[in-house]
Amino acid sequence: MKKHAFKANLLEKLKSISKREANLFFSLCEDQSEVIKTKRFKEVLLNSGLKSNDNRLYKLFQNLDAHGDKIVFEDFIEIVRTSELLVEKALRGELAIPDFGDFSKNLDSMFEDVKKIKSGELASYIPPLAEVDPDQFGVAIVTTDGQIYQRGDCNVDFSIQSMCKPFNYCFAMEKLGLEKVHKHVGQEPSGRQFDDLTLLARTAIGNLDGKFDRVPFNPMVNAGAIMTAGLIGTEESHSQRLRYIRQQFGRLIGWSPKDEFSTELPRFNKDMARQENFTGYNNIAMGYLLMATGNLPHTQTKLHNDIHPDEDEFDFYTEPAVTEALKLYFSICSLEMTSVEFATAAATLANSGVCPITQDRVLSQKTVRNCLPVLQTSGMYNASGTFFQQVGLPAKSGVGGGVLLIVPRLMGICIFSPRLDKQGNSVRGLEMAKRLTSKYLVHIFDGTMTDTSRLDPKLPIARWLANSCGEAIWAASNGNIRTLESLVSQQRDLAEGDYDFRTPLHLASAEGQLEVVKFLLDQGVKPRADRWGGYPISDARNNNHQKIVDIFEKLNINYTEPFHLVENPKGKSDKIAKFDDELMVIELLFAATRNDVEGIRHLVAKGVPINAGDYDLRTALHLASAEGSLEVVKYLVSHGHPLFVRDRWGATPLDEAKREKRSSVYNFLKTFK
Ligand code: GLU
Repeated sequence: MKKHAFKANLLEKLKSISKREANLFFSLCEDQSEVIKTKRFKEVLLNSGLKSNDNRLYKLFQNLDAHGDKIVFEDFIEIVRTSELLVEKALRGELAIPDFGDFSKNLDSMFEDVKKIKSGELASYIPPLAEVDPDQFGVAIVTTDGQIYQRGDCNVDFSIQSMCKPFNYCFAMEKLGLEKVHKHVGQEPSGRQFDDLTLLARTAIGNLDGKFDRVPFNPMVNAGAIMTAGLIGTEESHSQRLRYIRQQFGRLIGWSPKDEFSTELPRFNKDMARQENFTGYNNIAMGYLLMATGNLPHTQTKLHNDIHPDEDEFDFYTEPAVTEALKLYFSICSLEMTSVEFATAAATLANSGVCPITQDRVLSQKTVRNCLPVLQTSGMYNASGTFFQQVGLPAKSGVGGGVLLIVPRLMGICIFSPRLDKQGNSVRGLEMAKRLTSKYLVHIFDGTMTDTSRLDPKLPIARWLANSCGEAIWAASNGNIRTLESLVSQQRDLAEGDYDFRTPLHLASAEGQLEVVKFLLDQGVKPRADRWGGYPISDARNNNHQKIVDIFEKLNINYTEPFHLVENPKGKSDKIAKFDDELMVIELLFAATRNDVEGIRHLVAKGVPINAGDYDLRTALHLASAEGSLEVVKYLVSHGHPLFVRDRWGATPLDEAKREKRSSVYNFLKTFK
């Protein structure tokens, strides 16, 4: 017990040196010491999805390695201040996906299910694609904060093929601007095969200067992609143009000419490009069609003299502007990258053009905003409409088996699996994308839905649970009918209980909120039993709210009586903290219920008092004890959570462990008597 009191003072002591960092440091402290373990600090950073080879953290991890196994507060302050908020965000659970552990677990199980799917065929039009291992499967996700999830074949190079198209489009826009690019290519979904030989007749749809009245439908069909490639760096040689594009791709995936630790440039598969050239008759025809319609800029080559010696033969002329555009297009399609690199490029788009790893602005915000709608409507070949409806995210696939998805402001995703469906989309890629949007609220039109079985990846699970019931319960206990009315119009379930199955009706009854009780019953809410078997009528009775008791008695329900175990009602009673952000308190208690140490640590780092109590004076230690969450119990106690806190009914955490028969927690708490 003595040690225990010391710990509670530690936070105060640290705060006197530096308030901001004190909570962060305190969240990592263990076992009554005034130091944190270097190993634990690293673990916490890695569990948040950051990587030790992330070039923003490379130096930090090097320093930590050199530091020895313990860190004192003054050194910690130094470390946190040099890491540009990233460490602070990670410790407070404020990275793009705060509950990265849970997110990864869900992704892992989707991955294993989708891996069982074996349908689809490899692209067979050229040997380098027809010969890849069809079973390969990789899923990589990079968030806008640079957290990385990867599973399966994520470090295998694969051919980018049509996944280059959005980027060609972006690079062309960066060079020439939207208007100039769209003189040569439209933005309309084509509804035709990606290699269709027709062009969009542009009469009604903004023919900019009357010059090009037939243009490719959009930059995602082959004609459009040849066109955009043909617009980039026309004055330069082929190798200069390709180098420029490789470097731009490189910057999208975290390559930096100045940084020795950075990623490599995308690899060029020359054999692939040659095969594309041998068999790409459609594309070649398309190149000439683009020339004939005046879309491809002329290189003004003078017709040289015929030097053929035979009378009846002549030197066949091939237009250099066409061959140069095609050569560049085939070369770009033949670049290779890994899924992690691709996901980083997608994350750069999700992050409005700034690479999350290097913070390099590769594309302007405007370019990205102009590109994503075209991906949304035309990125998935002839399945783009269905994909939009089902998945609702801008995406692009390629016949190499890759699918790229962008969740704006949150993450980039790359799924790689080479078996394709009839439309040319990766079968597992589509399935994985569908599962992702049915589990997570990331479909761009999800905003208005309130289905609590789906999760918001931007929120910790405990917060999500707190949001689903907390507002209504607090409103009911404070008599705030306005809030309850607005929750009704949002179709929120007013019968939803918290971690103790306490509902708005319980709290309204306990607090004597007669009007709220009437309102809830009018809404069809049925009284339910809480964790202890107690109905709202017991709350009303215990607190002498007779009018409410009368209402419940008329309902003709067989109410059970609650059982609360309070071994020593006259015993010691510790202080419970009040905290203004009520939802954060509920979040803390949900995290305790779920044995989620990480979630508790984040809240402590944010400054939530460890012994904060809710409307029933329940604390994190009550909940962790009742649920047998031993890790959380240990964390709380080692951080000075008082043991003799008493809830509304007088029960302590030890009483709760006993009543719910949580023997390991009970035995642990007992040692502190
Ligand atoms: N290089 C391929 C072509 O233009 C791209 C195919 C694709 O991925 O859609 O035919």
